[in-house]
Amino acid sequence: MNKRNFIRLFAALVASPVVSPLLTWAFNKKLQNWAGNLEYSTDRLYSADTLEQVRSYVRKQRKLKVLGTRHCFNNIADSTDDFLSLKTMDEVVALDSDARTVTVNAGITYGQLSPYLDGKGFALHNLASLPHISVAGACSTATHGSGEKNGNLATAVSALEIVTADGEVVKLSRQQDGETFRGAVVGLGALGVITKVTLDIQPTYIMRQYVYENMPLSAMKDHFDAIESSGYSVSLFTDWQNQRIREVWIKSREEKGQAFDATPEFFGAKRATKNLHPIAELSAENCTEQMGVPGAWYERLPHFRMGFTPSAGKELQSEYFVPRQHAVEAILAIERLRDQVSPHLLISEIRAIAADNLWMSPCYEQACVTIHFTWKQDWPAVSKLLPVIEEELAPFNAHPHWGKLFTTKPAELKSFYKKLPDFIQLSEKYDPQGKFRNQFLNMNIFGG
Ligand SMILES: Cc1cc2nc3c(=O)[nH]c(=O)nc-3n(C[C@H](O)[C@H](O)[C@H](O)COP(=O)(O)OP(=O)(O)OC[C@H]3O[C@@H](n4cnc5c(N)ncnc54)[C@H](O)[C@@H]3O)c2cc1C
Repeated sequence: MNKRNFIRLFAALVASPVVSPLLTWAFNKKLQNWAGNLEYSTDRLYSADTLEQVRSYVRKQRKLKVLGTRHCFNNIADSTDDFLSLKTMDEVVALDSDARTVTVNAGITYGQLSPYLDGKGFALHNLASLPHISVAGACSTATHGSGEKNGNLATAVSALEIVTADGEVVKLSRQQDGETFRGAVVGLGALGVITKVTLDIQPTYIMRQYVYENMPLSAMKDHFDAIESSGYSVSLFTDWQNQRIREVWIKSREEKGQAFDATPEFFGAKRATKNLHPIAELSAENCTEQMGVPGAWYERLPHFRMGFTPSAGKELQSEYFVPRQHAVEAILAIERLRDQVSPHLLISEIRAIAADNLWMSPCYEQACVTIHFTWKQDWPAVSKLLPVIEEELAPFNAHPHWGKLFTTKPAELKSFYKKLPDFIQLSEKYDPQGKFRNQFLNMNIFGG
């Protein structure tokens, strides 16, 4: 393309409301998810700036999906028709100090929201391993952090504004809409376009993060409950090698009675003497501050810092929720697969999550432990391994993360969700023609 044509094209792009297809065409790059393991089935992406634009766009489209920050690893967000992005709708709408809530436009990320809240003297109860993700996308897939007393991120949602398939605006709140609200929060993108989210907030707090290295697997086995309850948020990282947990990350709140006593040794593990990355070979520069240095909640709860690449970048992820009572047995079952798992693995993480009452949350009415796998980006190998892992975890009622890679059969997946028939009914009420459905939803939720 010569300079004059480029300038002409650029001017056209700036003037055009449908910028992304032109941009991707101009630079010959297909629209992909964050990890680059999934090329979406269309490049047609419309970016809305206002609620009215969302409503009129939804009315006009026959089928569409909303794209958040594209951090899912599977095709839950994919569309063969059209995408809608709310990326520019990223403002804080209202902070209610008395009610202790914040209302945001749905395109905002936790990385944008958290410093704002902290500046106003408030905080969220938890964050995922990375702050880069959109609030709406994260809550729609029951994204979680760690901490046995902490529900997933969606449990902080107290109200939603949704544009349904006919372009109408539906407002739901925890206080007024009971079961319907609980059905809508982890909505898997099936109910409509979430345009606003209200979240519970609390007074800001300071945290310290400590990392311990090389905990014997036997200590994990014998003291799992004590380890999990030692901090506000606890993560165990393992490569399943040498009968040990490689790193234990403990995130502790400073409030009275909650602070972690950072002894040099913790259940046989030694306190680290420098900041570490969960993947040993990678630079800890990308990670939040450790070594007990006090800092704001939003700079300690995620493992990875805003403005830096989280995790490895070129990777795949899978994760399974196991009811808490089966945690140790399930972990040991995976450990027995170590020779199959390790060659394809970058790192595994084990976290605890409190029970909740959100219909499509994997923690619906049961506290869970999650066993997560960050894989090397080799789908042919990983796709062969997942059924082996799923079979091993089957006796423990394990079920996969909605946004990560799994091979669990739809019938089995559905059997974990006793509110699924109600969820299908709710979806049909807001989206009778299946405007927001895609292959993932048709297969895993709506298929016969
Ligand atoms: C490096 C990395 C680390 C991660 N760490 C964690 C972790 O610690 N814990 C965890 O649980 N998960 C984790 N994940 C997974 C991630 O949190 C989820 O995939 C989450 O859904 C990402 O949000 P998103 O905005 O990128 O969603 P997208 O992938 O863009 O979309 C996800 C779903 O939400 C829907 N959606 C998005 N916005 C809207 C809206 N406004 N209205 C209606 N539907 C909408 C989409 O249609 C789609 O169905 C991680 C992922 C990566 C890449």
